[in-house]
Amino acid sequence: MARAGSDGQLAIDDSVAAALRRGHPWVFRDARWGGASFGAGAVVDLVGRDGAFVARGTWDPVAPIAVRVFTRDAAQRLDLDLVAARVERALERRDRFLADPATNAYRLLHGEGDRVPGLVLDRYDHAVVARPDGAAMDAWLERVAARIWPLLVARGVRTLARRVPRDGQSGGASMLEPLQGEPAPDSIEVLESGVRTWVDLARGQKTGAFLDQRDNRVRVRGLARGRRVLNLYSYAGGFSIAAVLGGSGRVTSVDVAHAAHATAQRTFRANGVDPTPHAWVTADALAFLDGARARGEQWDLVICDPPSFAPSEKAKPRALTTYRRLHAACAAVLAPGGTLCAASCSSHVGPDEFLATLDDASLGRADLSVVASFGPPVDHPVVAGWPEGRYLKFVVLG
Ligand code: SAH
Repeated sequence: MARAGSDGQLAIDDSVAAALRRGHPWVFRDARWGGASFGAGAVVDLVGRDGAFVARGTWDPVAPIAVRVFTRDAAQRLDLDLVAARVERALERRDRFLADPATNAYRLLHGEGDRVPGLVLDRYDHAVVARPDGAAMDAWLERVAARIWPLLVARGVRTLARRVPRDGQSGGASMLEPLQGEPAPDSIEVLESGVRTWVDLARGQKTGAFLDQRDNRVRVRGLARGRRVLNLYSYAGGFSIAAVLGGSGRVTSVDVAHAAHATAQRTFRANGVDPTPHAWVTADALAFLDGARARGEQWDLVICDPPSFAPSEKAKPRALTTYRRLHAACAAVLAPGGTLCAASCSSHVGPDEFLATLDDASLGRADLSVVASFGPPVDHPVVAGWPEGRYLKFVVLG
């Protein structure tokens, strides 16, 4: 029997119930639910085999993650009030942990990590971009946007737009749709750790920027003085400008996407840096590394931050092989005494597994030690009982 405003209920195994109690927010589709048919975003109760209430979440009729859990309190309604309260809590978290006047681009709401599963809100100065993940949050988004809008306005936000997936978009069209407030600009200049940074909101990746690397960019800035720097998978040049401002006179940025270099160069100019003495290479990173090795080129600091290689558990073995190959190619162009920063955003590849792709056998050399391992900054909180949330690895070897 459905309670507290839910639309129906589904039975789960003891092991799933135990994971939910630890804070895991997902329930994968179960073949035994064959007949279950709720609308996208319907509120469902998850019950144990004895029928006892375990958790309440939203239903996705198509994705592998069938239910995203919002509460384990049977008496708590899953409604807009609950979502708004969670968003407010997330905003307070930023106030407490991220009080940095030199940064006005950051994640306001980190989905599962802030206990609003399926919704990311990224702030770029006065603009906020919402990225729903899955049909359930899609169905809720307009109502959520209207409900949380006053909270955002109170913090100086003037526009809230929704980011639609690239699929199905005609080439070059904006991927922003208005939700609240004034129209969002196609691109915007923000401040990240004191660095003026251009963000392509309408056509860039994710919501425009990879905000999760902010603190690691500051780390790169501290490692760059007087060194030749290679930034692989450079996107909008966040690590590249960090290296230049840190004192590198020569930064090589490599990305397959030509448009990303244009944004990066705009960022260079915004910081009073002439981009022309630096190298901008539009190429596949591995092909570039093979060519550079053949030419005998070397760098003192190499940053390697590829896209996720493992979108699924099944893709993991192949991803690990690719990481090994990539790290070997990076090591082959790293000068003696050099520093390698290797990153991974594959949630299916755990920190230890990633570290193993940086062992001596992978790198083909025995002079590099792991100096430090970092993750994302404080605006990307994690739930301890949800290992998939710890996706970002940033390992420094030297
Ligand atoms: N380091 C960046 C984020 C990188 S995102 C930052 O700090 O903001 C991954 C980037 O890799 C994207 O810009 C994408 O265009 C690029 N990319 C994807 N496949 C690639 C390939 N095979 N070779 C080079 N770049 C690639």
